[in-house]
Amino acid sequence: MAEERFDCVVVGGGPAGAAAAYTMAKAGLKVALIDRGEFPGAKNVFGGVLFRSQLEDLLPEFWKEAPLERLIVEERLMLLDEQGMVTLSHRNPGFADPPNSWSAMRAQFDAWFAGKAEKAGAVPVYQTTVTELLQEGDRVVGVRTDREDGDLYADIVIVADGVNSLLGKALGVHREWQPDEVSLGVKEIIHLPRNVIESRFNLEGNEGASIEFLGDTLGMTGLGFLYTNKESISIGVGIMVNDLQKARVKPYAVLDHVKQHPYIRKLIAGGEVEEYAAHLIPEGGFHSMPPLAGNGWMICGDAAQMVNAVNGEGTNLAVLSGRLAGETAILAHVRGDYSLGMLDHYNESIRASIVFKDLKKYSGIHGLLSGPERRVLFGKLPGVLNESISDYMSVNGITKEEKQKMLIHQLRDAAGGNVELLRLGLKGWRAINR
Ligand SMILES: Cc1cc2nc3c(=O)[nH]c(=O)nc-3n(C[C@H](O)[C@H](O)[C@H](O)COP(=O)(O)OP(=O)(O)OC[C@H]3O[C@@H](n4cnc5c(N)ncnc54)[C@H](O)[C@@H]3O)c2cc1C
Repeated sequence: MAEERFDCVVVGGGPAGAAAAYTMAKAGLKVALIDRGEFPGAKNVFGGVLFRSQLEDLLPEFWKEAPLERLIVEERLMLLDEQGMVTLSHRNPGFADPPNSWSAMRAQFDAWFAGKAEKAGAVPVYQTTVTELLQEGDRVVGVRTDREDGDLYADIVIVADGVNSLLGKALGVHREWQPDEVSLGVKEIIHLPRNVIESRFNLEGNEGASIEFLGDTLGMTGLGFLYTNKESISIGVGIMVNDLQKARVKPYAVLDHVKQHPYIRKLIAGGEVEEYAAHLIPEGGFHSMPPLAGNGWMICGDAAQMVNAVNGEGTNLAVLSGRLAGETAILAHVRGDYSLGMLDHYNESIRASIVFKDLKKYSGIHGLLSGPERRVLFGKLPGVLNESISDYMSVNGITKEEKQKMLIHQLRDAAGGNVELLRLGLKGWRAINR
Protein backbone atom coordinates (compact mmCIF):
# COMPACT_ATOMS: atom_id res chain seq x y z
CA MET A 1 0.00 0.00 0.00
CA ALA A 2 1.61 3.26 -1.10
CA GLU A 3 1.63 6.18 1.33
CA GLU A 4 -1.73 7.88 1.03
CA ARG A 5 -3.33 11.04 2.36
CA PHE A 6 -6.96 11.36 3.54
CA ASP A 7 -9.09 14.03 5.15
CA CYS A 8 -9.90 11.49 7.82
CA VAL A 9 -8.87 7.95 8.71
CA VAL A 10 -11.40 6.01 10.79
CA VAL A 11 -10.03 3.07 12.77
CA GLY A 12 -12.72 0.44 13.38
CA GLY A 13 -15.67 -0.54 11.20
CA GLY A 14 -18.14 -1.25 14.05
CA PRO A 15 -21.23 0.94 14.55
CA ALA A 16 -19.18 3.94 15.79
CA GLY A 17 -16.63 3.88 12.96
CA ALA A 18 -19.17 3.15 10.21
CA ALA A 19 -21.38 6.03 11.43
CA ALA A 20 -18.41 8.42 11.41
CA ALA A 21 -17.20 7.27 7.98
CA TYR A 22 -20.69 7.46 6.45
CA THR A 23 -21.29 10.97 7.83
CA MET A 24 -18.02 12.34 6.45
CA ALA A 25 -18.05 10.49 3.11
CA LYS A 26 -21.59 11.71 2.42
CA ALA A 27 -20.35 15.27 2.92
CA GLY A 28 -17.62 14.67 0.33
CA LEU A 29 -14.60 14.18 2.62
CA LYS A 30 -11.90 11.73 1.55
CA VAL A 31 -12.21 9.00 4.16
CA ALA A 32 -10.50 5.66 4.79
CA LEU A 33 -12.37 3.10 6.90
CA ILE A 34 -9.95 0.59 8.38
CA ASP A 35 -10.95 -2.68 10.03
CA ARG A 36 -8.85 -5.67 11.01
CA GLY A 37 -11.66 -8.10 10.15
CA GLU A 38 -12.05 -9.82 6.81
CA PHE A 39 -15.06 -7.49 6.64
CA PRO A 40 -16.50 -5.19 9.36
CA GLY A 41 -18.50 -7.27 11.81
CA ALA A 42 -16.76 -10.53 10.89
CA LYS A 43 -15.82 -11.09 14.53
CA ASN A 44 -17.94 -8.49 16.31
CA VAL A 45 -20.15 -9.62 19.18
CA PHE A 46 -23.17 -8.21 20.95
CA GLY A 47 -26.21 -9.57 22.75
CA GLY A 48 -28.55 -8.79 19.95
CA VAL A 49 -30.79 -5.70 20.13
CA LEU A 50 -30.38 -2.77 17.75
CA PHE A 51 -32.29 0.42 18.45
CA ARG A 52 -33.90 2.54 15.74
CA SER A 53 -33.60 6.15 16.86
CA GLN A 54 -29.92 7.07 16.48
CA LEU A 55 -29.51 4.99 13.32
CA GLU A 56 -32.53 6.57 11.72
CA ASP A 57 -31.03 10.03 12.21
CA LEU A 58 -28.34 8.86 9.78
CA LEU A 59 -30.26 6.49 7.52
CA PRO A 60 -33.99 7.24 7.37
CA GLU A 61 -36.12 4.05 7.24
CA PHE A 62 -32.96 1.93 7.16
CA TRP A 63 -34.95 -1.05 8.44
CA LYS A 64 -36.60 -1.48 5.07
CA GLU A 65 -33.31 -2.78 3.67
CA ALA A 66 -30.99 -3.57 6.61
CA PRO A 67 -30.37 -7.22 7.52
CA LEU A 68 -32.40 -7.45 10.75
CA GLU A 69 -33.89 -10.46 12.48
CA ARG A 70 -37.14 -9.75 14.38
CA LEU A 71 -38.96 -6.57 15.40
CA ILE A 72 -39.07 -6.54 19.21
CA VAL A 73 -42.68 -6.17 20.38
CA GLU A 74 -42.29 -7.61 23.86
CA GLU A 75 -39.76 -6.87 26.59
CA ARG A 76 -39.49 -8.89 29.76
CA LEU A 77 -37.34 -8.28 32.81
CA MET A 78 -37.06 -11.33 35.03
CA LEU A 79 -35.68 -11.77 38.54
CA LEU A 80 -34.60 -15.41 38.76
CA ASP A 81 -34.04 -17.55 41.79
CA GLU A 82 -32.94 -21.18 41.48
CA GLN A 83 -36.38 -22.48 40.56
CA GLY A 84 -38.72 -19.61 39.83
CA MET A 85 -38.86 -16.06 38.57
CA VAL A 86 -40.67 -12.78 39.06
CA THR A 87 -41.33 -11.11 35.71
CA LEU A 88 -42.14 -7.61 34.59
CA SER A 89 -43.40 -7.90 31.06
CA HIS A 90 -44.52 -5.34 28.53
CA ARG A 91 -45.96 -5.99 25.08
CA ASN A 92 -46.98 -3.08 22.95
CA PRO A 93 -48.10 -3.06 19.32
CA GLY A 94 -46.91 0.57 19.41
CA PHE A 95 -43.35 -0.80 19.39
CA ALA A 96 -43.99 -1.53 15.71
CA ASP A 97 -44.88 1.99 14.61
CA PRO A 98 -42.40 3.50 14.63
CA PRO A 99 -40.26 0.46 15.41
CA ASN A 100 -38.25 0.68 18.63
CA SER A 101 -35.73 -2.12 18.21
CA TRP A 102 -34.86 -5.35 16.41
CA SER A 103 -32.83 -8.43 17.12
CA ALA A 104 -29.86 -8.62 14.74
CA MET A 105 -26.60 -10.40 13.92
CA ARG A 106 -23.51 -8.23 13.92
CA ALA A 107 -21.70 -10.03 11.11
CA GLN A 108 -24.50 -9.11 8.73
CA PHE A 109 -25.47 -5.75 10.18
CA ASP A 110 -21.97 -4.24 10.53
CA ALA A 111 -21.01 -5.35 7.01
CA TRP A 112 -24.19 -3.73 5.65
CA PHE A 113 -23.64 -0.49 7.62
CA ALA A 114 -19.99 -0.20 6.55
CA GLY A 115 -21.19 -0.90 2.99
CA LYS A 116 -23.34 2.25 3.26
CA ALA A 117 -20.20 4.24 4.13
CA GLU A 118 -18.41 2.67 1.14
CA LYS A 119 -21.28 3.56 -1.19
CA ALA A 120 -21.11 7.14 0.11
CA GLY A 121 -17.44 7.17 -0.94
CA ALA A 122 -15.38 5.88 2.02
CA VAL A 123 -12.38 3.80 0.96
CA PRO A 124 -12.55 0.34 2.59
CA VAL A 125 -9.26 -0.87 4.05
CA TYR A 126 -10.13 -4.24 5.57
CA GLN A 127 -8.07 -7.14 6.86
CA THR A 128 -5.74 -4.42 8.06
CA THR A 129 -4.76 -3.79 11.67
CA VAL A 130 -3.68 -0.36 12.83
CA THR A 131 -0.61 -0.91 14.97
CA GLU A 132 0.15 2.64 16.03
CA LEU A 133 -0.67 6.30 15.59
CA LEU A 134 1.67 8.55 13.63
CA GLN A 135 2.38 11.74 15.52
CA GLU A 136 4.21 14.98 14.84
CA GLY A 137 4.84 16.65 18.16
CA ASP A 138 1.54 16.53 20.06
CA ARG A 139 -0.49 16.13 16.85
CA VAL A 140 -1.83 12.88 15.42
CA VAL A 141 -1.17 12.89 11.66
CA GLY A 142 -2.05 9.36 10.60
CA VAL A 143 -1.82 5.65 11.36
CA ARG A 144 0.66 2.83 10.81
CA THR A 145 -0.89 -0.45 9.71
CA ASP A 146 0.37 -4.03 9.55
CA ARG A 147 0.53 -3.83 5.75
CA GLU A 148 3.78 -3.33 3.94
CA ASP A 149 4.21 0.42 3.28
CA GLY A 150 0.98 0.74 5.21
CA ASP A 151 1.20 4.27 6.63
CA LEU A 152 -1.90 6.40 6.02
CA TYR A 153 -1.78 10.15 6.63
CA ALA A 154 -4.83 12.26 7.50
CA ASP A 155 -5.85 15.61 8.96
CA ILE A 156 -7.92 13.75 11.54
CA VAL A 157 -7.93 10.20 12.93
CA ILE A 158 -11.17 8.94 14.46
CA VAL A 159 -10.49 6.16 16.94
CA ALA A 160 -13.40 3.67 17.05
CA ASP A 161 -11.49 0.47 17.77
CA GLY A 162 -13.75 -0.90 20.49
CA VAL A 163 -13.41 -1.76 24.17
CA ASN A 164 -9.76 -2.89 24.11
CA SER A 165 -8.77 0.29 22.25
CA LEU A 166 -5.09 -0.13 21.59
CA LEU A 167 -5.09 3.39 20.18
CA GLY A 168 -6.83 4.91 23.20
CA LYS A 169 -3.99 3.49 25.28
CA ALA A 170 -1.41 4.78 22.80
CA LEU A 171 -2.95 8.25 23.11
CA GLY A 172 -2.65 7.96 26.86
CA VAL A 173 -6.34 8.82 27.29
CA HIS A 174 -7.12 5.54 28.91
CA ARG A 175 -5.24 2.87 30.74
CA GLU A 176 -5.88 -0.86 30.86
CA TRP A 177 -9.49 -1.09 32.17
CA GLN A 178 -9.76 -2.26 35.76
CA PRO A 179 -11.69 -5.52 36.44
CA ASP A 180 -14.57 -3.51 37.94
CA GLU A 181 -14.89 -1.37 34.77
CA VAL A 182 -15.59 -4.21 32.35
CA SER A 183 -17.81 -7.25 32.28
CA LEU A 184 -17.19 -10.34 30.21
CA GLY A 185 -20.11 -11.29 27.99
CA VAL A 186 -20.52 -14.83 26.71
CA LYS A 187 -23.17 -15.71 24.21
CA GLU A 188 -24.54 -18.67 22.31
CA ILE A 189 -26.70 -18.73 19.24
CA ILE A 190 -29.04 -21.69 19.48
CA HIS A 191 -30.86 -22.84 16.38
CA LEU A 192 -34.60 -23.54 16.66
CA PRO A 193 -37.20 -23.77 13.89
CA ARG A 194 -39.16 -20.59 13.22
CA ASN A 195 -42.54 -22.12 14.19
CA VAL A 196 -41.15 -23.37 17.52
CA ILE A 197 -39.86 -19.89 18.38
CA GLU A 198 -43.17 -18.29 17.45
CA SER A 199 -45.29 -20.67 19.53
CA ARG A 200 -42.91 -20.65 22.55
CA PHE A 201 -42.76 -16.87 22.72
CA ASN A 202 -46.30 -16.16 21.52
CA LEU A 203 -45.11 -14.33 18.39
CA GLU A 204 -46.50 -13.96 14.90
CA GLY A 205 -44.64 -13.37 11.63
CA ASN A 206 -41.69 -11.08 12.16
CA GLU A 207 -42.44 -10.25 15.83
CA GLY A 208 -39.69 -10.79 18.38
CA ALA A 209 -39.21 -10.87 22.15
CA SER A 210 -36.42 -9.57 24.34
CA ILE A 211 -35.87 -11.08 27.79
CA GLU A 212 -33.34 -9.74 30.25
CA PHE A 213 -32.74 -11.36 33.60
CA LEU A 214 -31.01 -10.76 36.87
CA GLY A 215 -30.20 -13.33 39.56
CA ASP A 216 -29.18 -16.99 39.40
CA THR A 217 -25.75 -15.90 38.13
CA LEU A 218 -24.03 -17.83 40.94
CA GLY A 219 -24.24 -14.73 43.14
CA MET A 220 -22.10 -12.64 40.79
CA THR A 221 -22.86 -9.18 39.47
CA GLY A 222 -24.27 -9.50 36.01
CA LEU A 223 -27.22 -9.67 33.70
CA GLY A 224 -28.47 -12.33 31.34
CA PHE A 225 -30.27 -11.93 28.04
CA LEU A 226 -32.32 -14.00 25.65
CA TYR A 227 -33.43 -12.60 22.31
CA THR A 228 -35.45 -14.26 19.56
CA ASN A 229 -34.03 -14.24 16.04
CA LYS A 230 -35.76 -15.55 12.92
CA GLU A 231 -34.57 -19.12 13.41
CA SER A 232 -32.43 -18.98 16.49
CA ILE A 233 -32.18 -17.70 20.04
CA SER A 234 -29.33 -15.50 21.27
CA ILE A 235 -28.68 -16.30 24.91
CA GLY A 236 -25.89 -15.01 27.12
CA VAL A 237 -24.66 -13.45 30.33
CA GLY A 238 -22.40 -10.52 31.09
CA ILE A 239 -20.57 -10.80 34.43
CA MET A 240 -18.28 -8.23 36.04
CA VAL A 241 -14.67 -9.33 35.63
CA ASN A 242 -13.77 -8.58 39.26
CA ASP A 243 -16.45 -11.03 40.45
CA LEU A 244 -15.29 -13.72 37.98
CA GLN A 245 -11.71 -13.30 39.17
CA LYS A 246 -12.65 -13.46 42.85
CA ALA A 247 -14.88 -16.50 42.46
CA ARG A 248 -12.48 -18.14 39.97
CA VAL A 249 -15.45 -19.06 37.83
CA LYS A 250 -15.39 -19.20 34.04
CA PRO A 251 -18.18 -17.15 32.44
CA TYR A 252 -19.41 -20.08 30.35
CA ALA A 253 -19.99 -21.98 33.62
CA VAL A 254 -22.43 -19.20 34.56
CA LEU A 255 -24.11 -19.45 31.16
CA ASP A 256 -24.37 -23.25 31.46
CA HIS A 257 -25.89 -22.80 34.89
CA VAL A 258 -28.44 -20.26 33.63
CA LYS A 259 -29.38 -22.56 30.74
CA GLN A 260 -30.42 -25.19 33.31
CA HIS A 261 -32.89 -22.87 35.03
CA PRO A 262 -36.32 -24.59 34.83
CA TYR A 263 -37.88 -21.68 32.92
CA ILE A 264 -34.96 -20.91 30.57
CA ARG A 265 -34.34 -24.61 29.86
CA LYS A 266 -37.81 -24.96 28.35
CA LEU A 267 -37.38 -21.90 26.13
CA ILE A 268 -34.29 -23.35 24.46
CA ALA A 269 -35.19 -27.05 24.65
CA GLY A 270 -34.34 -29.05 21.52
CA GLY A 271 -32.12 -26.29 20.14
CA GLU A 272 -28.63 -26.81 18.75
CA VAL A 273 -25.77 -24.45 19.61
CA GLU A 274 -24.58 -22.92 16.33
CA GLU A 275 -22.12 -20.35 17.59
CA TYR A 276 -20.29 -19.40 20.75
CA ALA A 277 -18.63 -16.02 21.40
CA ALA A 278 -17.13 -13.97 24.20
CA HIS A 279 -16.38 -10.25 24.37
CA LEU A 280 -15.74 -7.53 26.94
CA ILE A 281 -18.37 -4.89 27.68
CA PRO A 282 -17.24 -1.49 29.00
CA GLU A 283 -19.22 -0.86 32.18
CA GLY A 284 -17.23 1.84 33.95
CA GLY A 285 -19.79 4.40 32.83
CA PHE A 286 -19.56 8.13 33.23
CA HIS A 287 -16.45 8.26 35.42
CA SER A 288 -14.47 6.02 33.06
CA MET A 289 -15.06 8.14 29.95
CA PRO A 290 -11.68 9.46 28.75
CA PRO A 291 -10.99 12.88 27.17
CA LEU A 292 -12.72 12.68 23.79
CA ALA A 293 -10.53 14.79 21.51
CA GLY A 294 -7.04 16.17 21.02
CA ASN A 295 -4.92 17.66 18.26
CA GLY A 296 -5.86 15.66 15.16
CA TRP A 297 -7.97 12.95 16.85
CA MET A 298 -11.34 12.04 18.37
CA ILE A 299 -12.44 8.84 20.11
CA CYS A 300 -15.93 7.26 20.13
CA GLY A 301 -18.08 4.26 21.03
CA ASP A 302 -16.80 1.47 23.27
CA ALA A 303 -13.25 2.82 23.00
CA ALA A 304 -14.56 5.76 25.05
CA GLN A 305 -16.65 3.57 27.46
CA MET A 306 -19.92 4.83 25.97
CA VAL A 307 -22.22 2.04 27.16
CA ASN A 308 -25.40 2.44 29.19
CA ALA A 309 -25.34 -0.89 31.03
CA VAL A 310 -28.60 -0.21 32.86
CA ASN A 311 -30.65 -0.15 29.65
CA GLY A 312 -28.44 -2.42 27.56
CA GLU A 313 -27.61 0.38 25.11
CA GLY A 314 -24.24 0.37 23.36
CA THR A 315 -24.62 0.25 19.59
CA ASN A 316 -26.90 3.29 19.56
CA LEU A 317 -24.47 5.36 21.65
CA ALA A 318 -21.66 4.21 19.35
CA VAL A 319 -23.63 5.33 16.26
CA LEU A 320 -24.49 8.68 17.85
CA SER A 321 -20.92 9.38 18.95
CA GLY A 322 -19.59 8.34 15.52
CA ARG A 323 -21.99 10.71 13.79
CA LEU A 324 -21.09 13.60 16.13
CA ALA A 325 -17.37 12.98 15.61
CA GLY A 326 -17.98 12.88 11.82
CA GLU A 327 -19.90 16.17 11.94
CA THR A 328 -17.11 17.83 13.90
CA ALA A 329 -14.58 16.57 11.33
CA ILE A 330 -16.65 18.16 8.54
CA LEU A 331 -16.63 21.48 10.39
CA ALA A 332 -12.88 21.21 11.00
CA HIS A 333 -12.34 20.43 7.31
CA VAL A 334 -14.28 23.54 6.26
CA ARG A 335 -12.26 25.70 8.65
CA GLY A 336 -8.96 23.95 7.97
CA ASP A 337 -8.39 23.69 11.72
CA TYR A 338 -7.66 20.26 13.25
CA SER A 339 -6.50 21.45 16.65
CA LEU A 340 -7.97 20.45 20.00
CA GLY A 341 -9.63 23.90 20.15
CA MET A 342 -11.66 22.96 17.05
CA LEU A 343 -12.19 19.24 17.72
CA ASP A 344 -13.39 19.99 21.24
CA HIS A 345 -16.66 20.80 19.47
CA TYR A 346 -17.20 17.00 19.46
CA ASN A 347 -16.82 16.97 23.23
CA GLU A 348 -19.48 19.69 23.49
CA SER A 349 -21.85 17.79 21.17
CA ILE A 350 -21.46 14.66 23.29
CA ARG A 351 -22.17 16.68 26.45
CA ALA A 352 -25.40 17.95 24.90
CA SER A 353 -26.47 14.42 23.84
CA ILE A 354 -28.04 11.39 25.54
CA VAL A 355 -24.59 9.77 25.69
CA PHE A 356 -23.41 12.21 28.33
CA LYS A 357 -26.78 12.94 29.93
CA ASP A 358 -27.80 9.29 30.42
CA LEU A 359 -24.36 8.16 31.58
CA LYS A 360 -24.25 11.10 34.00
CA LYS A 361 -27.69 10.26 35.38
CA TYR A 362 -26.51 6.70 36.07
CA SER A 363 -23.08 7.76 37.25
CA GLY A 364 -23.62 6.26 40.71
CA ILE A 365 -24.24 2.77 39.31
CA HIS A 366 -20.58 1.86 39.10
CA GLY A 367 -20.08 2.64 42.80
CA LEU A 368 -23.19 0.64 43.72
CA LEU A 369 -22.18 -2.36 41.65
CA SER A 370 -18.61 -2.46 42.84
CA GLY A 371 -19.59 -2.04 46.52
CA PRO A 372 -20.88 -4.63 49.02
CA GLU A 373 -24.51 -3.85 48.04
CA ARG A 374 -24.08 -5.92 44.89
CA ARG A 375 -24.16 -9.09 47.00
CA VAL A 376 -27.66 -8.16 48.13
CA LEU A 377 -28.89 -6.95 44.73
CA PHE A 378 -27.59 -9.86 42.66
CA GLY A 379 -27.29 -12.58 45.30
CA LYS A 380 -30.10 -12.28 47.83
CA LEU A 381 -32.77 -9.95 46.47
CA PRO A 382 -34.04 -12.06 43.53
CA GLY A 383 -34.43 -15.05 45.88
CA VAL A 384 -36.20 -13.04 48.57
CA LEU A 385 -38.60 -11.47 46.08
CA ASN A 386 -39.42 -14.88 44.60
CA GLU A 387 -40.05 -16.33 48.06
CA SER A 388 -42.13 -13.38 49.25
CA ILE A 389 -44.31 -13.31 46.15
CA SER A 390 -44.83 -17.09 46.40
CA ASP A 391 -45.86 -16.64 50.03
CA TYR A 392 -48.15 -13.76 49.14
CA MET A 393 -49.85 -15.66 46.31
CA SER A 394 -50.31 -18.86 48.33
CA VAL A 395 -53.77 -19.30 49.84
CA ASN A 396 -52.92 -20.95 53.14
CA GLY A 397 -54.84 -19.36 55.97
CA ILE A 398 -52.17 -16.78 56.82
CA THR A 399 -53.68 -13.29 56.83
CA LYS A 400 -52.63 -10.77 54.19
CA GLU A 401 -51.47 -8.39 56.91
CA GLU A 402 -49.15 -11.04 58.27
CA LYS A 403 -47.89 -11.77 54.78
CA GLN A 404 -47.03 -8.11 54.24
CA LYS A 405 -45.11 -8.12 57.51
CA MET A 406 -43.27 -11.27 56.41
CA LEU A 407 -42.30 -9.58 53.14
CA ILE A 408 -40.83 -6.61 54.97
CA HIS A 409 -38.99 -8.94 57.39
CA GLN A 410 -37.54 -10.94 54.50
CA LEU A 411 -36.36 -7.81 52.70
CA ARG A 412 -34.87 -6.43 55.90
CA ASP A 413 -33.06 -9.72 56.62
CA ALA A 414 -31.66 -9.80 53.07
CA ALA A 415 -30.29 -6.28 53.46
CA GLY A 416 -28.95 -6.98 56.97
CA GLY A 417 -31.30 -4.81 59.05
CA ASN A 418 -33.69 -1.84 58.88
CA VAL A 419 -31.00 0.79 58.54
CA GLU A 420 -29.20 -1.21 55.84
CA LEU A 421 -32.47 -1.67 53.92
CA LEU A 422 -33.11 2.06 53.98
CA ARG A 423 -29.51 2.79 53.02
CA LEU A 424 -29.71 0.34 50.12
CA GLY A 425 -32.92 1.94 48.85
CA LEU A 426 -31.40 5.40 49.10
CA LYS A 427 -28.12 4.33 47.46
CA GLY A 428 -30.02 2.60 44.67
CA TRP A 429 -32.13 5.69 44.04
CA ARG A 430 -29.10 7.99 44.07
CA ALA A 431 -27.14 5.67 41.79
CA ILE A 432 -29.61 6.23 38.98
CA ASN A 433 -30.48 9.86 39.71
CA ARG A 434 -27.41 12.06 39.60
C1 LIG B 1 -22.13 -9.71 25.13
C2 LIG B 1 -22.50 -8.32 24.67
C3 LIG B 1 -23.85 -7.97 24.58
C4 LIG B 1 -24.20 -6.70 24.12
N1 LIG B 1 -25.53 -6.44 23.87
C5 LIG B 1 -25.88 -5.27 23.30
C6 LIG B 1 -27.22 -5.07 22.85
O1 LIG B 1 -28.06 -5.98 22.88
N2 LIG B 1 -27.54 -3.87 22.32
C7 LIG B 1 -26.61 -2.87 22.18
O2 LIG B 1 -26.96 -1.78 21.68
N3 LIG B 1 -25.32 -3.04 22.57
C8 LIG B 1 -24.93 -4.23 23.11
N4 LIG B 1 -23.62 -4.44 23.44
C9 LIG B 1 -22.64 -3.34 23.31
C10 LIG B 1 -22.26 -3.10 21.85
O3 LIG B 1 -21.86 -4.31 21.26
C11 LIG B 1 -21.13 -2.08 21.77
O4 LIG B 1 -21.44 -0.97 22.58
C12 LIG B 1 -20.90 -1.61 20.33
O5 LIG B 1 -20.55 -2.69 19.50
C13 LIG B 1 -19.79 -0.56 20.27
O6 LIG B 1 -19.49 -0.26 18.94
P1 LIG B 1 -18.05 0.28 18.51
O7 LIG B 1 -18.13 0.57 17.07
O8 LIG B 1 -17.63 1.33 19.45
O9 LIG B 1 -17.07 -0.95 18.80
P2 LIG B 1 -17.01 -2.39 18.15
O10 LIG B 1 -18.36 -2.83 17.76
O11 LIG B 1 -16.25 -3.25 19.11
O12 LIG B 1 -16.15 -2.20 16.82
C14 LIG B 1 -14.76 -2.00 16.86
C15 LIG B 1 -14.20 -2.35 15.50
O13 LIG B 1 -12.83 -1.99 15.47
C16 LIG B 1 -12.08 -3.00 14.81
N5 LIG B 1 -10.71 -2.89 15.34
C17 LIG B 1 -10.31 -2.99 16.63
N6 LIG B 1 -8.99 -2.74 16.75
C18 LIG B 1 -8.53 -2.47 15.50
C19 LIG B 1 -7.26 -2.13 14.97
N7 LIG B 1 -6.18 -1.99 15.76
N8 LIG B 1 -7.13 -1.94 13.63
C20 LIG B 1 -8.23 -2.07 12.83
N9 LIG B 1 -9.46 -2.39 13.27
C21 LIG B 1 -9.62 -2.57 14.60
C22 LIG B 1 -12.80 -4.29 15.17
O14 LIG B 1 -12.56 -5.31 14.22
C23 LIG B 1 -14.26 -3.84 15.18
O15 LIG B 1 -14.89 -4.02 13.94
C24 LIG B 1 -23.21 -5.72 23.86
C25 LIG B 1 -21.86 -6.06 23.98
C26 LIG B 1 -21.50 -7.35 24.34
C27 LIG B 1 -20.05 -7.72 24.38
